[in-house]
Amino acid sequence: MSFFCSFDSNFLIMKQIYNLLIVFLTIGNFFGQNSNIDRKALIESEKKAASRSILDFNVNPNTLNYDLQYVRMEFDLDPTQQFVSGTMTSHFKMLSNSSNIYFDLAKNLTVSDVKYHGQNLSFLQLDTDEVKINFPAAILAQSTDSLSITYSGVPDSSGAFASFEAGFTPAGDPVLATLSEPYGAKGWWPTKQSMNDKIEKMDIKVTTPAQYTVGSNGKLMSETILGNGKKLTYWQTNYPIPAYLFALGISNYTKMNSTITTTGSSFPFLNYVYPATATPDTQASLDWTASCMQNFEDKFGLYPYRNEKYGHMQFNWGGGMEHATMTSMVSFGERLICHELAHQWFGDKLTCGAWNDIWLNEGFATFGEHVTYEKLLMSPAQFQSYLAGQISDITSDPGGSVYVPDSGLSNINRVFDGRLTYAKGGYVLRMIKWILGDDQFYSAIKAYQDNPAFAYNYVKTPDFRNFLSNYTGRDFTDFFNDWIYGEGYPSYQIRWTQNSTTKKMTLRVGQTQSSSTVSFFEMPLPIRVSGSGGQTAYFVLNHNSNNQYFTQDVGFDVTSVTFNYERQLLTKGSTVVRDNNLAVSDISKDKINVYPNPAKSFIKISGLEKTADYEIFSIDGKLIKKGNSNPDSEINISTLVKGTYILKFNDQSVKIIKE
Ligand SMILES: [Zn+2]
Repeated sequence: MSFFCSFDSNFLIMKQIYNLLIVFLTIGNFFGQNSNIDRKALIESEKKAASRSILDFNVNPNTLNYDLQYVRMEFDLDPTQQFVSGTMTSHFKMLSNSSNIYFDLAKNLTVSDVKYHGQNLSFLQLDTDEVKINFPAAILAQSTDSLSITYSGVPDSSGAFASFEAGFTPAGDPVLATLSEPYGAKGWWPTKQSMNDKIEKMDIKVTTPAQYTVGSNGKLMSETILGNGKKLTYWQTNYPIPAYLFALGISNYTKMNSTITTTGSSFPFLNYVYPATATPDTQASLDWTASCMQNFEDKFGLYPYRNEKYGHMQFNWGGGMEHATMTSMVSFGERLICHELAHQWFGDKLTCGAWNDIWLNEGFATFGEHVTYEKLLMSPAQFQSYLAGQISDITSDPGGSVYVPDSGLSNINRVFDGRLTYAKGGYVLRMIKWILGDDQFYSAIKAYQDNPAFAYNYVKTPDFRNFLSNYTGRDFTDFFNDWIYGEGYPSYQIRWTQNSTTKKMTLRVGQTQSSSTVSFFEMPLPIRVSGSGGQTAYFVLNHNSNNQYFTQDVGFDVTSVTFNYERQLLTKGSTVVRDNNLAVSDISKDKINVYPNPAKSFIKISGLEKTADYEIFSIDGKLIKKGNSNPDSEINISTLVKGTYILKFNDQSVKIIKE
């Protein structure tokens, strides 16, 4: 979900809090320049947070006894009416012997009957937004069965979780649109909205007055004029989707259809826009979507729904919503397009397994903006300025975690916090990319997307953390504790000096934290140094302890040191100072470093104060080579066979790897 207007790059944190009246009152504002009023409306909505048990936000325990596998939906809808009516036939596999089954359904909607093998079942609608249905006899575990629920009513369009709205386009034409994320599916259809069960297949059949077009998920199977002034539109999706990603858009849309062809895929691209939006500008943005798609396929893997389609359907909610294969959009700016498109991989194919983990949807979609801006929309300087804006937003408050605590789940504004869930979540991914380097990072992301346990399924923060650790061989436990579960950011105090004879640099790096929830951020620090003759060198300081010393050979006179030169890290208030009083005696023995390691032709022992004898042993203890190493001299290992060796010098043993 995204809440910025594309023509106003400010994050517009507007969730589905808009009732129809507010949409009308602020429509001029949307299409204008300012979002302040919308933010106020959002804050007001906090007070409407529903009182449910925390557990129920993620999983309704009453629906744990079955796996919802298929739904045939037969809706009868008219966009001029705030009214829903339909029959939902659900096929399910029982997971335990059960004499009843629950569906989530708002209590203000009325179930008229429940049919089961041709007979009517008794049922009860509960105050807890559930319908409890009793079977004539217990259904056994592992058996598959089905039932049909016929219901109707006026979906709530005023609450914080309103999800179904019949209203009007800016031109005054009727439009009916739905937006169920996070908790709104039950507000307009009987389902299982727990974050642990995707619906494997849906047939979506919608009868409307004949003049309207219906957009939805999956493949368009048919549009049939029925002869009674009505039309039947039939969509089908065969990809598993969670209840909140199913949506409808109904209006007198203009279809701007084409095909997207990338190097790896080709599929229909269906766009249902208001007639007034069917402009050359919109066409240009839609055409651009193919470049965005290609860039994402290059980085994240093939488009997840390429057997069906991609597309957009216009609605009035501020921003966009990544309904699987058919994103709902208020307008067609490139930034909004790319954010929502990134969600098809992150959010839709891989869905957060609890709303606490929503950053796995929104942080990744924000990172999708990063890669789009950097590659397709911005110059390097513009991209750096964008990153500076993100850092400034994220660090505008010293606290707050990316992970949503249970206490935040009742508050939509905390779940979809623009600073934490979106901006900081996206920046954490940028830092992981810095730690791993682009090649390993993107290969890890592709493997994460392809992982059979995650693909078209749910993922939680520990799933991603453990996957990343296993895939890369690096332990990301501390990193996630600091950056996802912990709060705030580090500030660095970097002091440096250079020996004018040896050109060796000494650096001392201190760190403070904005929040007491993190004691120390262990990070590789990006350093760029420049010389008086125009030379540049880059190196990385593996910062593991406060006031840590580093030495670095630089073959020229350093005139300036730049920390975080491409804003690889999230930090604020860091300083870099030349300090010629940094005493050389501060460099203790444990600052000695063997590099490069692994190495092909030579290694060096840095930090030696005088010539030292060395020996190189094979891993089974055989002496392979011995000699002495002067400070800064190279030890030739080009003749060694590839493998692991032990380098011994000055009572130290260091494992080295010959490539
Ligand atoms: Zn989003």
